[in-house]
Amino acid sequence: MARFLIEVPHEARTKECALAAKILIGTGSQYLAHADFGCLDGEHKAWIIVEVGTKEEARFIVPPLFRPRAKIVQLNKFSLGELEEILECHEEQPLEEAALRGQAEYTPSPSA
Ligand SMILES: [Zn+2]
Repeated sequence: MARFLIEVPHEARTKECALAAKILIGTGSQYLAHADFGCLDGEHKAWIIVEVGTKEEARFIVPPLFRPRAKIVQLNKFSLGELEEILECHEEQPLEEAALRGQAEYTPSPSA
């Protein structure tokens, strides 16, 4: 099993919001019933996190109407140990150096 973030966009119009939400929630899917929406903050998308076997299974949860525009992202977590291993493989740019360079290159724009 893997975790996937499903992102389902819709048009930024009140009727479209209500219609999209009704269709998603009305499917009877336990996953979609718990969808989170960004509409009230101007982000006209629904997000659902599911735990299924494959990306295709995750896509299949989305109603056909929204499927072509849905974005499915497999989620992973990093442990600190893994990150140290990854960073060690990039010795040409040690983490500390990269951090320092980042600070040195940071120049706030005059307009900000
Ligand atoms: Zn909306």
